[in-house]
Amino acid sequence: MNDLEINIIPCLNDNYAYIISFENQALVIDPSESLPIIKFIEKNNLNLKYILNTHHHFDHVGGNLDLKKKYNASVIGSKKDKNRIPGIDLLLSENEEFIFDGYIFKVIEVPGHTLGHIAFYLESKKAVFTGDTIFSLGCGKLFEGTSKQMWDSICKIRALPRDTQIYCGHEYTLNNALFTQSIKNDNKIEKKIKEVEGLRKNNLPSIPTTVSEEIKLNLFFQADNNKIKSLFSNNKITSEETFALIRSAKDSY
Ligand code: ZN
Ligand code: FE
Repeated sequence: MNDLEINIIPCLNDNYAYIISFENQALVIDPSESLPIIKFIEKNNLNLKYILNTHHHFDHVGGNLDLKKKYNASVIGSKKDKNRIPGIDLLLSENEEFIFDGYIFKVIEVPGHTLGHIAFYLESKKAVFTGDTIFSLGCGKLFEGTSKQMWDSICKIRALPRDTQIYCGHEYTLNNALFTQSIKNDNKIEKKIKEVEGLRKNNLPSIPTTVSEEIKLNLFFQADNNKIKSLFSNNKITSEETFALIRSAKDSY
């Protein structure tokens, strides 16, 4: 029986777009450029119906207009970004759903990296597409939102079932792992670094990760853990303050 397929499409330097197909129908999430998408669509004889964007940055929407024109595809994104996402047709908000051939993509608002940032949760496939909110072992920079907003957003993703696969917007895992090691060196992180180095040597993605893997290794998921707090301050600080300190340590790493 046919099932939904999730294909990872490397774009630009270190971006990932995702083409999701069911039989000959397809949608793309965050096409930073159109060419790699067109190549895949043509090679597999797919019909590109939808373009989903997690946020308005160029390295996530750069291919929108080309693809929309070529395939007559509809562009879907956050209502908050109705003036910033090129070609946007369908505006979605928290908990609203987009249905693709019976598969439900639920919108989770995750402000912080940008104010209109959303994630798409495909519960039936245990997958979430997080754009630049969460990376493997990291999170996005705070370009528009506050650390409180970003911490709350991370907690929303962290609360999904542990076996949920996280598909993020960039291949930043190795750098994030080295940063993590610089803060807290242990066997777990050493093992992860070796694993990611092996994958990258063969040009393979380190994505997807999972909620449980991130709970284990991602410092930004652990800002409410007292041991992690104590690495950043001698005083009693809140989780949100800890998150902000981890973020600024990473910014200057
Ligand atoms: Zn971004
Ligand atoms: Fe990005």
